[in-house]
Amino acid sequence: MSNIKCAVVTGASRGIGAAITKELALCGFSVIINYNSSKHNAEKILEDIQKNGGTGYTYKCDVSDRTEVDGMIEFAVKQFGKIDVLVNNAGIAQQKLFTDITADDWNKMLSVNLGGVFNCCQSVLPYMIRRKSGKIINISSVWGSVGASCEVHYSAVKAGIIGLSKALAKEVAPSHITVNCIAPGCIMTDMLTNELDEETISQLADETPLGRIGTPKDIAKAAAFLAGSGADFITGQVLGVDGGFC
Ligand code: NAP
Repeated sequence: MSNIKCAVVTGASRGIGAAITKELALCGFSVIINYNSSKHNAEKILEDIQKNGGTGYTYKCDVSDRTEVDGMIEFAVKQFGKIDVLVNNAGIAQQKLFTDITADDWNKMLSVNLGGVFNCCQSVLPYMIRRKSGKIINISSVWGSVGASCEVHYSAVKAGIIGLSKALAKEVAPSHITVNCIAPGCIMTDMLTNELDEETISQLADETPLGRIGTPKDIAKAAAFLAGSGADFITGQVLGVDGGFC
């Protein structure tokens, strides 16, 4: 088994996931850069990591598909002999009036954003439990705590991630595995700019006590902390990284 620490980051081809992956690589982790459709981006991130002396692999997998998730986790274990850290970051967003949300919209939101966390946690845990070691970091959202108008399904699954994390933290604590959430505020990524116009983004910056939209790096720094030994005694927590928004 390799002495190098290994991290699997889902949705690592863009935005927050890409920043977390790069930050973990800088901290000495070998990384699995999971992507679903953005293959080229994922390869570019791996190149950047390698240029800085880091190591890793890209891996295509839809987190809502359990068979594909199991394949990714088996691949990581085959490469590294273990998985030290799992970051469940992959996610989708959608702006719709509650009355317009279709059954398909609802099911997709659930299967990617919450089902993906369930799939990845359940797939990785047997390996972590065997070693009595591991850290799971789940990316929720401020909207999971306070709720967002026109994002009822998104807010519901993000609240679900918090409940899942708190319960799972208690269940796996005897195996010395920690489970924590990060709840980002408004972060400048494709997700924000695809869903909201410039005026709304500027209003959100004004409503943020620290007076700005966050960066993917803001979230990456928090994830690196929770992935490190400095967070060994922290579990079942929700770390808000939101400029004071919530
Ligand atoms: P983003 O820029 O839209 O990136 C989303 C990432 O998720 C991409 O890498 C995408 O991969 C991946 N993804 C989507 N569906 C997937 C699937 N079925 N299987 C595997 N990967 C999938 O979003 P972001 O802003 O970085 O968001 C990252 C996380 O932070 C999400 O969970 C989001 O809900 C949360 N968050 C974001 C904000 C914000 O303001 N940006 C605030 C709070 C929470 P491909 O491109 O390869 O398909």
